[in-house]
Amino acid sequence: MNPVYSALGTTIFTTMSGLATQLGAVNLGQGFPETDGFPEVRREAARALMEASNQYPPMKGMPVLLGAVAEFYGRRQGLNLEAAHNVLITSGATEAIAAAIFALISEGDEVIVFEPMYDAYKPLIERAGGVCVSVRLSPPDWRFDEAMLTAAFTPRTKAVMITTPNNPTTRMLSREDWDLLAGFVTAHEAYVISDEVWEETVFDGREHISVLNVLPDQGIKIGSAGKIFALTGWKVGFVCAAAPLITQIAKAHQFLTFTTPPALQAGVAFGLGLADSRFIEARNALQASRDFLRDGLEAAGFVTLPADGTYFLNIDLKGSGIAVSASDFALRAVHEAGVATIPMDAFCSEGGASMSVVRLCFCKSDATLQRGLEGLIRARALF
Ligand code: GLN
Repeated sequence: MNPVYSALGTTIFTTMSGLATQLGAVNLGQGFPETDGFPEVRREAARALMEASNQYPPMKGMPVLLGAVAEFYGRRQGLNLEAAHNVLITSGATEAIAAAIFALISEGDEVIVFEPMYDAYKPLIERAGGVCVSVRLSPPDWRFDEAMLTAAFTPRTKAVMITTPNNPTTRMLSREDWDLLAGFVTAHEAYVISDEVWEETVFDGREHISVLNVLPDQGIKIGSAGKIFALTGWKVGFVCAAAPLITQIAKAHQFLTFTTPPALQAGVAFGLGLADSRFIEARNALQASRDFLRDGLEAAGFVTLPADGTYFLNIDLKGSGIAVSASDFALRAVHEAGVATIPMDAFCSEGGASMSVVRLCFCKSDATLQRGLEGLIRARALF
């Protein structure tokens, strides 16, 4: 069997959600909204399911959705995308990431990744024959600097994997971060695969900067309808890039999933056309949930890390006076205090256990967050 997968366990998200269900714990682990998002988008998909075709849509995506993605990013991020050449629809952002990696990476190519990182990247890069070159970032800023990039880039660097806003750190790349990275990428003629699935989930008036705002010819931007509309089970993703890159990535996509359910594509196309105010409303509701959880944690003596975007808020255990590893805390919290969290070391290759941070998901009702808080306060008393 292939050693990349033999060496892997089940994802931390599945493990923690399983434990939460089995133990009846409040689940602040895996990132999914407690209630379904945008009803008008679901209604449109339901209508399309009954009234429109359910046969294979075009391999690169339905024209109505390609157009809606190009229009949405033009409107919201100032990007200049041609629907027919610069957009590809995939079955979720994870498929988009896989297709981009498989399309670009050959045996022995180096891919720079930043840890902590989302858990899907490393196995996909290694399955493609690539070699991960890790840059370890540290809380609370989780920023890279010139010295880190100088050490990471080599003549074998083929691509850089970026996540902004970042899951799990929640931080966003600033214009200065992008400019620094772009200098290295250009000098090395590399690509940037930019996971931007949290682009609409940003708080406190922050502005998302896409890779395509900085590196239009070398950037591959990945988006997710599941995140934009709080419908994570839909698995509708987008790749946006220069035409030659889309042509190449589409070749990988055609033999991964080939296409994506047409009714869901129709629903997403409709949703992307909604007024900007609708997206702001969704963002404000999430920000209020973040504030509710953060205020409760701070009142209970926990120290939290900056939370710029995403569904997540991180607790600095050491800073909170809790002297255990994140994994120990997470395991005892779910077994003995009735609350599931995600330990940050799950997002690191090795030595991550020293990172005493746990990730909490806050896209839940206030009542659920309150029960989660009570669990965390019980967990704190265990140590
Ligand atoms: N993106 C989700 C998270 O970070 C998990 C997705 C999954 O479970 N595969 O929690």
